[in-house]
Amino acid sequence: MTKSGKAYLIGAGPGDPRLLTLRAAEVLGQADVVLVDDLVHPGVLAHARTRRIIHVGKRSQRRSFPQELATHTLLAYVRGGSIVARVKGGDPFVFGRGGEEALALAEARLPFEIIPGVTAAVGAAAYAGIPLTHRGVAASVAFVTGHREAGATQRIDADADTIVVYMCQRTIRDIAHELLERGKSPMTCVALVRGASWPTQEVFTGYLDELATLDDEWYAALDPELPTIAIIGAVASYADQLAWQDARPIPIASLRVPRLRVVAGGRR
Ligand code: SAH
Repeated sequence: MTKSGKAYLIGAGPGDPRLLTLRAAEVLGQADVVLVDDLVHPGVLAHARTRRIIHVGKRSQRRSFPQELATHTLLAYVRGGSIVARVKGGDPFVFGRGGEEALALAEARLPFEIIPGVTAAVGAAAYAGIPLTHRGVAASVAFVTGHREAGATQRIDADADTIVVYMCQRTIRDIAHELLERGKSPMTCVALVRGASWPTQEVFTGYLDELATLDDEWYAALDPELPTIAIIGAVASYADQLAWQDARPIPIASLRVPRLRVVAGGRR
Protein backbone atom coordinates (compact mmCIF):
# COMPACT_ATOMS: atom_id res chain seq x y z
CA MET A 1 0.00 0.00 0.00
CA THR A 2 1.39 3.42 -0.85
CA LYS A 3 1.60 5.90 1.98
CA SER A 4 -0.68 8.89 1.47
CA GLY A 5 1.03 12.22 1.44
CA LYS A 6 -0.04 15.46 3.02
CA ALA A 7 1.09 19.07 2.79
CA TYR A 8 1.40 21.40 5.74
CA LEU A 9 1.64 25.10 4.92
CA ILE A 10 3.47 26.41 7.95
CA GLY A 11 4.08 29.95 9.12
CA ALA A 12 7.48 30.22 10.77
CA GLY A 13 7.03 33.71 12.23
CA PRO A 14 9.14 36.79 11.60
CA GLY A 15 12.54 35.48 12.63
CA ASP A 16 13.21 34.41 16.21
CA PRO A 17 12.67 30.63 16.02
CA ARG A 18 11.10 30.60 19.48
CA LEU A 19 8.05 32.27 17.98
CA LEU A 20 7.20 29.07 16.12
CA THR A 21 3.92 27.43 17.15
CA LEU A 22 3.97 24.06 18.92
CA ARG A 23 1.94 22.60 16.05
CA ALA A 24 4.55 23.74 13.53
CA ALA A 25 7.36 22.19 15.56
CA GLU A 26 5.38 18.95 15.87
CA VAL A 27 4.74 18.71 12.12
CA LEU A 28 8.35 19.54 11.27
CA GLY A 29 9.35 16.57 13.40
CA GLN A 30 7.12 14.28 11.34
CA ALA A 31 7.86 15.60 7.85
CA ASP A 32 9.61 13.55 5.17
CA VAL A 33 10.53 16.66 3.18
CA VAL A 34 10.82 20.31 4.16
CA LEU A 35 10.41 23.01 1.51
CA VAL A 36 11.56 26.29 2.93
CA ASP A 37 11.34 29.92 1.85
CA ASP A 38 13.78 32.76 2.34
CA LEU A 39 13.57 34.65 5.63
CA VAL A 40 13.02 31.51 7.68
CA HIS A 41 15.45 31.36 10.59
CA PRO A 42 17.70 28.26 10.44
CA GLY A 43 16.72 27.53 14.06
CA VAL A 44 13.20 26.69 12.85
CA LEU A 45 14.63 23.87 10.75
CA ALA A 46 16.25 22.34 13.83
CA HIS A 47 12.81 20.82 14.58
CA ALA A 48 12.96 18.78 11.38
CA ARG A 49 14.11 15.17 11.67
CA THR A 50 14.48 14.69 7.93
CA ARG A 51 17.58 15.80 6.10
CA ARG A 52 15.59 16.49 2.95
CA ILE A 53 15.43 20.23 3.33
CA ILE A 54 14.96 22.08 0.07
CA HIS A 55 15.28 25.86 -0.19
CA VAL A 56 12.70 27.14 -2.64
CA GLY A 57 12.84 30.81 -1.81
CA LYS A 58 13.13 33.58 -4.32
CA ARG A 59 14.46 36.89 -3.13
CA SER A 60 12.78 39.44 -5.31
CA GLN A 61 15.86 40.15 -7.41
CA ARG A 62 17.43 36.73 -7.75
CA ARG A 63 14.39 34.83 -8.91
CA SER A 64 16.20 31.57 -8.41
CA PHE A 65 13.13 29.48 -7.72
CA PRO A 66 9.93 30.71 -9.34
CA GLN A 67 6.64 30.23 -7.51
CA GLU A 68 5.36 27.78 -10.15
CA LEU A 69 8.31 25.50 -9.53
CA ALA A 70 7.86 25.69 -5.76
CA THR A 71 4.18 24.72 -6.15
CA HIS A 72 5.04 21.98 -8.62
CA THR A 73 7.67 20.53 -6.25
CA LEU A 74 5.20 20.61 -3.35
CA LEU A 75 2.52 18.78 -5.33
CA ALA A 76 4.98 16.22 -6.68
CA TYR A 77 6.18 15.25 -3.20
CA VAL A 78 2.64 15.00 -1.78
CA ARG A 79 1.52 12.88 -4.74
CA GLY A 80 4.53 10.66 -4.14
CA GLY A 81 3.25 9.97 -0.61
CA SER A 82 5.45 12.32 1.41
CA ILE A 83 4.52 14.37 4.44
CA VAL A 84 5.70 17.78 3.27
CA ALA A 85 6.34 20.71 5.58
CA ARG A 86 6.14 23.84 3.44
CA VAL A 87 7.65 26.51 5.67
CA LYS A 88 7.11 30.19 5.00
CA GLY A 89 8.17 33.31 6.83
CA GLY A 90 5.53 35.00 8.98
CA ASP A 91 2.08 33.64 8.21
CA PRO A 92 1.42 31.60 5.06
CA PHE A 93 -1.76 33.53 4.20
CA VAL A 94 -0.36 37.06 4.62
CA PHE A 95 1.60 38.02 1.50
CA GLY A 96 3.04 34.52 1.57
CA ARG A 97 1.46 33.08 -1.57
CA GLY A 98 0.09 30.33 0.63
CA GLY A 99 -3.29 30.86 -0.98
CA GLU A 100 -1.95 29.87 -4.38
CA GLU A 101 -0.33 26.74 -3.00
CA ALA A 102 -3.45 25.77 -1.03
CA LEU A 103 -5.58 26.25 -4.17
CA ALA A 104 -3.24 24.07 -6.20
CA LEU A 105 -3.45 21.37 -3.52
CA ALA A 106 -7.25 21.65 -3.34
CA GLU A 107 -7.57 21.45 -7.13
CA ALA A 108 -5.35 18.38 -7.17
CA ARG A 109 -7.47 16.90 -4.34
CA LEU A 110 -4.45 16.47 -2.14
CA PRO A 111 -4.81 16.80 1.65
CA PHE A 112 -3.35 19.83 3.39
CA GLU A 113 -3.38 21.74 6.65
CA ILE A 114 -2.60 25.42 7.28
CA ILE A 115 -0.57 26.28 10.37
CA PRO A 116 -0.59 30.00 11.10
CA GLY A 117 2.47 31.96 12.11
CA VAL A 118 3.22 35.36 13.62
CA THR A 119 3.01 37.67 10.62
CA ALA A 120 5.71 40.33 10.23
CA ALA A 121 3.32 43.21 11.01
CA VAL A 122 2.42 41.69 14.35
CA GLY A 123 5.96 40.51 15.10
CA ALA A 124 7.54 43.85 14.19
CA ALA A 125 4.95 45.75 16.21
CA ALA A 126 5.58 43.61 19.28
CA TYR A 127 9.35 43.74 19.00
CA ALA A 128 9.38 47.48 18.37
CA GLY A 129 6.85 48.25 21.13
CA ILE A 130 4.05 49.51 18.86
CA PRO A 131 0.47 48.64 19.94
CA LEU A 132 -1.12 48.47 16.48
CA THR A 133 -4.66 49.22 17.69
CA HIS A 134 -3.99 51.22 20.85
CA ARG A 135 -7.31 52.14 22.46
CA GLY A 136 -8.30 55.70 21.74
CA VAL A 137 -5.52 56.10 19.16
CA ALA A 138 -6.15 53.53 16.42
CA ALA A 139 -9.28 51.50 15.79
CA SER A 140 -8.26 49.93 12.49
CA VAL A 141 -5.15 48.54 10.88
CA ALA A 142 -4.42 47.74 7.23
CA PHE A 143 -1.74 45.34 6.03
CA VAL A 144 -0.68 46.53 2.59
CA THR A 145 2.02 45.58 0.13
CA GLY A 146 4.65 48.10 -0.89
CA HIS A 147 5.64 45.94 -3.82
CA ARG A 148 5.10 47.76 -7.10
CA GLU A 149 4.87 45.94 -10.40
CA ALA A 150 6.69 47.96 -13.04
CA GLY A 151 4.31 50.50 -14.53
CA ALA A 152 1.42 49.51 -12.29
CA THR A 153 -0.63 52.22 -10.64
CA GLN A 154 -1.63 50.92 -7.27
CA ARG A 155 -3.12 52.88 -4.44
CA ILE A 156 -2.59 51.80 -0.91
CA ASP A 157 -5.36 51.87 1.66
CA ALA A 158 -4.75 55.17 3.38
CA ASP A 159 -7.96 55.16 5.43
CA ALA A 160 -6.96 52.78 8.20
CA ASP A 161 -5.68 54.43 11.39
CA THR A 162 -2.56 52.27 11.27
CA ILE A 163 -1.03 51.25 7.94
CA VAL A 164 1.55 48.48 7.89
CA VAL A 165 3.49 48.29 4.65
CA TYR A 166 5.16 45.00 3.80
CA MET A 167 7.84 44.66 1.10
CA CYS A 168 8.63 48.35 1.10
CA GLN A 169 12.42 48.26 1.08
CA ARG A 170 12.68 49.99 -2.27
CA THR A 171 9.36 51.80 -2.37
CA ILE A 172 8.84 53.38 1.04
CA ARG A 173 9.89 56.85 -0.04
CA ASP A 174 7.45 56.82 -2.96
CA ILE A 175 4.71 55.45 -0.74
CA ALA A 176 5.34 58.20 1.82
CA HIS A 177 5.05 60.75 -1.01
CA GLU A 178 1.84 59.16 -2.21
CA LEU A 179 0.33 59.33 1.28
CA LEU A 180 1.31 62.99 1.64
CA GLU A 181 -0.26 63.80 -1.73
CA ARG A 182 -3.42 62.09 -0.62
CA GLY A 183 -3.68 64.31 2.39
CA LYS A 184 -1.98 62.45 5.24
CA SER A 185 -0.35 64.89 7.61
CA PRO A 186 3.43 65.32 7.23
CA MET A 187 3.54 64.90 11.01
CA THR A 188 2.03 61.40 10.90
CA CYS A 189 4.25 59.17 13.03
CA VAL A 190 6.10 56.35 11.30
CA ALA A 191 8.40 53.52 12.28
CA LEU A 192 10.61 51.46 10.01
CA VAL A 193 11.37 48.08 11.50
CA ARG A 194 14.14 46.05 9.90
CA GLY A 195 14.82 42.42 10.77
CA ALA A 196 12.23 42.33 13.54
CA SER A 197 13.06 39.70 16.18
CA TRP A 198 16.42 38.96 14.52
CA PRO A 199 19.52 39.85 16.58
CA THR A 200 20.23 42.57 14.02
CA GLN A 201 16.83 44.26 14.48
CA GLU A 202 16.80 47.99 13.79
CA VAL A 203 13.95 50.40 14.52
CA PHE A 204 13.78 53.92 13.08
CA THR A 205 11.11 56.38 14.14
CA GLY A 206 10.06 59.77 12.83
CA TYR A 207 7.44 61.47 10.69
CA LEU A 208 5.94 60.84 7.29
CA ASP A 209 7.67 63.81 5.67
CA GLU A 210 11.03 62.53 6.92
CA LEU A 211 10.30 59.15 5.39
CA ALA A 212 9.48 60.85 2.09
CA THR A 213 12.85 62.58 2.08
CA LEU A 214 15.08 59.78 3.29
CA ASP A 215 18.71 60.37 2.54
CA ASP A 216 19.69 58.83 -0.82
CA GLU A 217 22.94 57.44 0.36
CA TRP A 218 21.38 55.85 3.43
CA TYR A 219 18.51 54.47 1.40
CA ALA A 220 20.80 52.95 -1.21
CA ALA A 221 23.01 51.38 1.45
CA LEU A 222 20.20 49.42 3.13
CA ASP A 223 21.18 45.80 3.53
CA PRO A 224 18.89 43.96 1.10
CA GLU A 225 19.03 40.82 3.25
CA LEU A 226 17.30 42.51 6.18
CA PRO A 227 13.53 42.65 5.56
CA THR A 228 11.84 45.98 6.17
CA ILE A 229 8.32 46.84 7.25
CA ALA A 230 6.85 50.29 7.82
CA ILE A 231 4.25 51.13 10.44
CA ILE A 232 2.49 54.41 9.69
CA GLY A 233 0.10 56.08 12.12
CA ALA A 234 -0.01 57.64 15.57
CA VAL A 235 0.70 54.32 17.30
CA ALA A 236 4.23 54.33 15.82
CA SER A 237 5.21 56.99 18.36
CA TYR A 238 4.89 54.46 21.19
CA ALA A 239 8.08 52.77 20.01
CA ASP A 240 10.06 55.45 21.81
CA GLN A 241 8.33 54.63 25.12
CA LEU A 242 7.68 50.91 24.79
CA ALA A 243 10.90 49.65 23.19
CA TRP A 244 11.84 46.72 25.39
CA GLN A 245 14.82 45.52 23.35
CA ASP A 246 18.21 46.89 24.35
CA ALA A 247 18.51 49.19 21.35
CA ARG A 248 16.54 52.44 21.35
CA PRO A 249 14.77 53.57 18.17
CA ILE A 250 16.96 55.66 15.89
CA PRO A 251 15.41 58.98 14.79
CA ILE A 252 14.82 59.02 11.03
CA ALA A 253 15.85 62.69 11.11
CA SER A 254 19.37 61.57 12.01
CA LEU A 255 19.62 59.47 8.86
CA ARG A 256 20.33 62.43 6.64
CA VAL A 257 23.96 61.83 7.51
CA PRO A 258 25.57 58.75 5.97
CA ARG A 259 24.38 55.60 7.67
CA LEU A 260 27.71 54.34 8.94
CA ARG A 261 27.92 57.15 11.43
CA VAL A 262 24.63 56.28 13.14
CA VAL A 263 24.84 52.51 13.14
CA ALA A 264 27.27 52.12 16.02
CA GLY A 265 24.84 53.62 18.52
CA GLY A 266 21.89 51.80 17.03
CA ARG A 267 23.00 48.22 17.14
CA ARG A 268 22.77 46.03 20.16
N1 SAH B 1 4.23 35.85 4.90
C1 SAH B 1 5.08 36.87 5.48
C2 SAH B 1 5.31 38.05 4.57
C3 SAH B 1 6.12 37.72 3.35
S1 SAH B 1 6.45 39.14 2.38
C4 SAH B 1 4.47 37.32 6.80
O1 SAH B 1 3.33 36.97 7.11
O2 SAH B 1 5.14 38.03 7.54
C5 SAH B 1 8.04 39.61 2.95
C6 SAH B 1 7.95 40.92 3.70
O3 SAH B 1 7.59 40.67 5.06
C7 SAH B 1 9.26 41.67 3.80
O4 SAH B 1 9.48 42.45 2.64
C8 SAH B 1 9.01 42.55 5.00
O5 SAH B 1 8.20 43.65 4.68
C9 SAH B 1 8.20 41.63 5.88
N2 SAH B 1 9.02 40.94 6.88
C10 SAH B 1 9.21 39.62 7.00
N3 SAH B 1 9.98 39.35 8.09
C11 SAH B 1 10.27 40.54 8.65
C12 SAH B 1 11.03 40.94 9.78
N4 SAH B 1 11.62 40.04 10.58
N5 SAH B 1 11.11 42.26 10.06
C13 SAH B 1 10.52 43.19 9.29
N6 SAH B 1 9.80 42.86 8.19
C14 SAH B 1 9.67 41.57 7.89
